[in-house]
Amino acid sequence: MSAEPPSDDKPPAVCVTAAKCARCGQPVQARYRPFCSQRCAEIDLGSWFTERYRVATDEPPTDAPPKGEEEP
Ligand SMILES: [Zn+2]
Repeated sequence: MSAEPPSDDKPPAVCVTAAKCARCGQPVQARYRPFCSQRCAEIDLGSWFTERYRVATDEPPTDAPPKGEEEP
């Protein structure tokens, strides 16, 4: 008799839903990937946007009014 592995042996879990929230570490909801909830998504997005906005304001404005239209 050959020793075969049990048929109830589950394959290695490779589901993406096993990921953890990038914010708090809780199980990620497919709807709010890569976060666990809309709250975490908004928090992360808000911080990211704030940081990006801060960097953007650090640079000189590119929409400056054109010069050369001086009145005589
Ligand atoms: Zn979270």
